[in-house]
Amino acid sequence: MAEPITAPRGTYDLLPDQSYKWHYIENILTSICKSFGYSEIRTPTFEYTEVFSRGLGESTDIVGKEMYTMLDKSGRSITLRPEGTANTMRALIQHGLLKGLLPVRVYYISSCFRYEKPQSGRYREHHQIGVELMGSHYPDADSEVIKLAYHALRELGIKNTRLEINSLGCRECRAEYIKSLKDYFKQNIHLMCPTCNERLERNPLRILDCKSEICKEIASKSPDILSFICEPCSEHFGLLKEQLSDAGIEFIINPRIVRGQDYYSRTVFEFVHEGAGAQGTVCGGGRYDRLVEYLGSDPCPGIGFGMGLERVLLIMEAEGIEIPVPEGPEIFIAHIGENSQKIAANLVFELQKSGIYALYDINRRGLKAQLKFADKVSSKRYLVIGDSELESGKATIRDMKTKEETTIDLNIGSLIAIL
Ligand code: ATP
Ligand code: MG
Repeated sequence: MAEPITAPRGTYDLLPDQSYKWHYIENILTSICKSFGYSEIRTPTFEYTEVFSRGLGESTDIVGKEMYTMLDKSGRSITLRPEGTANTMRALIQHGLLKGLLPVRVYYISSCFRYEKPQSGRYREHHQIGVELMGSHYPDADSEVIKLAYHALRELGIKNTRLEINSLGCRECRAEYIKSLKDYFKQNIHLMCPTCNERLERNPLRILDCKSEICKEIASKSPDILSFICEPCSEHFGLLKEQLSDAGIEFIINPRIVRGQDYYSRTVFEFVHEGAGAQGTVCGGGRYDRLVEYLGSDPCPGIGFGMGLERVLLIMEAEGIEIPVPEGPEIFIAHIGENSQKIAANLVFELQKSGIYALYDINRRGLKAQLKFADKVSSKRYLVIGDSELESGKATIRDMKTKEETTIDLNIGSLIAIL
């Protein structure tokens, strides 16, 4: 026999006895998106590589180290989507949506692919729900997407997240900050990881996003961006803070959040969960007013977030939040003999067409095995059809738990009436 094959490292199978948890989470999240006016967008799983290399920036970890990039049969470089924003922008630009009625509000639920070191809460294929709000410079847009994420986590029952916000300023005021950041890191660079040594020249801001303990320690004493941002950026940030407070949303200011993509400007934010350890960020987002220009469009401001669904589930488990387990069949119809089997099959099909979860035995097993199966799948009731039921036209429905019995006429109308 050939060796069995496993799923690739860093990926996992979502098995039938777990998928209800995802449906539960996705249903809540999508209904919240809809109540905020966001419509779903679905884009291809892969894009031309430029979408991400231009969109996210060459010096980011994602583009530099994590992308699944390959040449297709015609020699074009394509990349499996590592995140959801740049590709969504590509689609909005391609279809002229940023030239129509603004603001544009979209959400997506999609798989993302990153070549990372697999660990708890970190996979090579993970799933994100994300929203993008296009067409407003105002902090009202920033607070809207933060409110949406905040409300979503609340509705899932998650209590212990902490919202951290920061402003990265604009291109102009950030230049000043980067200069001072570079001066600071230069003094300590011999202690820092090889990647940060490279980052110092190419993109010192990225050092603040390094996961190495020593780099994090050094970065924690680096200059504070908030003392560098210009008047309009500072005013924008001030208004955002005011709006969050007005909405009763608590936050802390963390001047060292930069996020992993180069496209952010002004607001960046993260929802962090203490229980989730090193993989503590469950949702990250920010404003990206220049991104669409990198992708060849006229300017259009935007803000959004990505929320990792695997981490949402981990956190819910850590907080002991119970997700309702799906119920078993309303009824299992057991049969004895060929004639009964036909009647059972027809009745079950009629019930299924009426939207009632019903099963019968398709393996023609003996009665005992059929009832054992009904019990295993947690059927709420069962009914046995044999010769005497066919003759009398009556059958008895039994409740699996209480053993209560109800005799009915053996036809679909009477069955539906009782279920
Ligand atoms: P991290 O700092 O943990 O690497 P990130 O900054 O790379 O996260 P984003 O690109 O902002 O993350 O993605 C948004 C969200 O997607 C993250 O907050 C996280 O919840 C989730 N996420 C990112 N990468 C992974 C991964 N490899 N496995 C599982 N979830 C992930
Ligand atoms: Mg990452």
